Amino acid sequence: MTNPLRRLVALALTLIATPALAEPPVQWSIAIHGGAGTMSREEMIEEKRAEYEAALQAALDAGAQVLRDGGDAIEAVRTVIVTLEDDPRFNAGRGAVFTWDGTNELDASIMDGRDLSAGAVAAVIGVKNPILLADAVRLDGRHVFLSGKGAEDFAAEYGLESAEPSWFATEPRLRALERFKAGKVSAIDVDLKYGTVGAVALDSAGNLAAGTSTGGTTGKRWGRIGDSPVIGAGTYADNRSCAVSATGEGEYFIRVGVARQICNRVQMAGEDVQTAADAVIGEVGALGGEGGVIVMAPDGEAVFAFNTSGMYRGRADSKGTSEVAIFAGE
Ligand code: ASP
Repeated sequence: MTNPLRRLVALALTLIATPALAEPPVQWSIAIHGGAGTMSREEMIEEKRAEYEAALQAALDAGAQVLRDGGDAIEAVRTVIVTLEDDPRFNAGRGAVFTWDGTNELDASIMDGRDLSAGAVAAVIGVKNPILLADAVRLDGRHVFLSGKGAEDFAAEYGLESAEPSWFATEPRLRALERFKAGKVSAIDVDLKYGTVGAVALDSAGNLAAGTSTGGTTGKRWGRIGDSPVIGAGTYADNRSCAVSATGEGEYFIRVGVARQICNRVQMAGEDVQTAADAVIGEVGALGGEGGVIVMAPDGEAVFAFNTSGMYRGRADSKGTSEVAIFAGE
């Protein structure tokens, strides 16, 4: 063999003998949602679609930046949710749906997977960012779940920012209430397509967190509370299994105990997060309920599962993934 040929053969043999480099593990990962529901590709005009995608991307970027800078998962979850609460397009904080009585009553919860600390608030009026109130309850540690006037007093004691009713109230939501009261459309049709918001995250220290915030369902009455502020139904995080945030018809999600159920399957049955999420959303569907979840595994795998035609969603990680989507199959 000539010299160059010998060198080429030697190089080829070295390449064959070298084991493929193992992919580096994900350092951090985040997934978000802005509600699941009935949406049709045909009816969603390009402009509107672009607007929602940009809003999701902005929230995703804000959360990813926290994690990139070495911030913890709980901080990333808070950051995403505050961004979406302040965005009137989503049914949380500003832009929340109206109750039967014409108020905006807000529910939120947050959980830290490293110590299972959790905070939740329900039927709160006038607190600008309910997720920050839920987190204050978590950090305070004396209680997990506060509601109504008591939660509002707690917010005042902690100096959380309040806002006038006009901050939360938006025209499209008011019209949705009118349509609902006129019996022209069900709460599901008017709500779920512009739903609840949530986030799950894994930080570079290996900790998981989850949070969810909502105005609930249009025309809700009698102090109705959905799954979003219920730890174990709408939100759950445990470093040993997974982090979950849900959106959909809260009554079904509470009955199935969706978030905790998914983590249980991962922890006890050793299922991967996609299998567990699909199975539990299947249970919701079997009861007649609609909605979806975002789930984060301890290794940074972020998955979605929903039985509706769409879910506003996005995910990003330290390997360069950064994507948002709306319809099923995207
Ligand atoms: N799950 C929320 C509730 O039932 C609604 C939603 O996700 O859009 O209050």
